[in-house]
Amino acid sequence: MNSPADTAAAAQAVIAASARREAAPAGGTATMPVSRALFDQVMVPCFAPAEFIPVRGEGSRVWDQQGRMYIDFAGGVAVTALGHCHPAMLRALDEQARRLWHVSNWFTNEPALRLAQRLVDHTFAERVFFCNSGAEANEAALKLARRYAHDRHGAHKTRVVSTQNAFHGRTLFTVTAGGQPKYSSGFGPTPAGFVHLPYNDIAALEAEFALHGRDICAVILEPMQGEGGMTPGTPEYLGAARRLTREHGALLVLDEIQSGMGRTGALFSYMQKGVTPDILTTAKGLGGGFPVGAMLTTAEVASAFSVGVHGTTYGGNPLACAVAGAVFDVINTTEVLDGVKARHALFLEGLRAINARRPVFRDLRGEGVWLGCELDARWRGRAMDVMKAAGDAGLLVLVAGPDVVRLAPSLVISLDEILEGLARLETALGRALT
Ligand SMILES: *Cc1c(COP(=O)(O)O)cnc(C)c1O
Repeated sequence: MNSPADTAAAAQAVIAASARREAAPAGGTATMPVSRALFDQVMVPCFAPAEFIPVRGEGSRVWDQQGRMYIDFAGGVAVTALGHCHPAMLRALDEQARRLWHVSNWFTNEPALRLAQRLVDHTFAERVFFCNSGAEANEAALKLARRYAHDRHGAHKTRVVSTQNAFHGRTLFTVTAGGQPKYSSGFGPTPAGFVHLPYNDIAALEAEFALHGRDICAVILEPMQGEGGMTPGTPEYLGAARRLTREHGALLVLDEIQSGMGRTGALFSYMQKGVTPDILTTAKGLGGGFPVGAMLTTAEVASAFSVGVHGTTYGGNPLACAVAGAVFDVINTTEVLDGVKARHALFLEGLRAINARRPVFRDLRGEGVWLGCELDARWRGRAMDVMKAAGDAGLLVLVAGPDVVRLAPSLVISLDEILEGLARLETALGRALT
């Protein structure tokens, strides 16, 4: 048997060796050349990324490995609200990276408190819960709604009303809330107690409450369905959801993960629709490309999440909150929000002009810098082909289902970039739809 002194001496030798290794410069695989083919060899195949690999971005331009430049009308998926490598975000990240990266939720931290204060000051909310993604924000919202109803009204009040074609994330709870069976099928048994009604259908909502109002704990809605096809919710519909939830002691959850943080020209879309939720979820644009999500609510509802009832390791991470704080301060100004509305007009005008020269869209719709271009009957199901052709023409766009080309560029995309991107879109449409 080794003596304690021998063990300590051996440990010291190992620690000294590891200290030498830690001080050595980084090398190894950090600069290994990689190509798209490697994706299929090492990645779980749940994505089908483009053939090119973006390596650098600046504003609304992105460059690939070969140095080709792309105009970015996608913004990730409505994420990079201030474009790529915005100076305010760089400054916030660099400053925080030199101070403190992580302390766990056994401590609070300054960037998280500052971000929460901003969100409370500028929205209906009185309390904030931070997490790392949209799905986690909705997961927290649904858990909170269930728990609140359980504590206030009893164990029977568990029913969640959602909508067909909704998208709320990819955890089991949130795909179940979503209204696209292709995302939840094969994962059963899924959580019970969900019902999916047609979106914008006030009568269906009224009938549901007439029949099950006592058991409904929450209605969860996107103010405009993004993934589901860029369908704006009418103020009357959202208003009916507000009224019915209030009458029946249920909570209204607005999923503003895609619609929030200035995308529609208001800080959050609910502010334009005249409907105030009990819970609001945000992510995507909140971090502008740094992963962060948040659930906002009232003090009364938040009280159902007492100490230990819910949690997260990374939620409220100082780096994420420092970046999000910088994003918030840029976006939450009249100049930037008015700029979003001005860009909306410019996009619509450009898209209408393209469509006049070469009619391919049956509808052009959206709010702010969040546009849906629905292909007409002749080109039904071809949105993905347009997205691919756009890549070939040096333009990044999105789809929203098989028939809708979706644009979600930076809120501060330049005039030149808009015009150049629209020209590339016209080229792509010409190539894809023949
Ligand atoms: C993207 C999105 C989500 C999911 O966000 P993740 O960060 O991917 O988990 C949820 N709801 C809406 C409306 C979204 O657009």
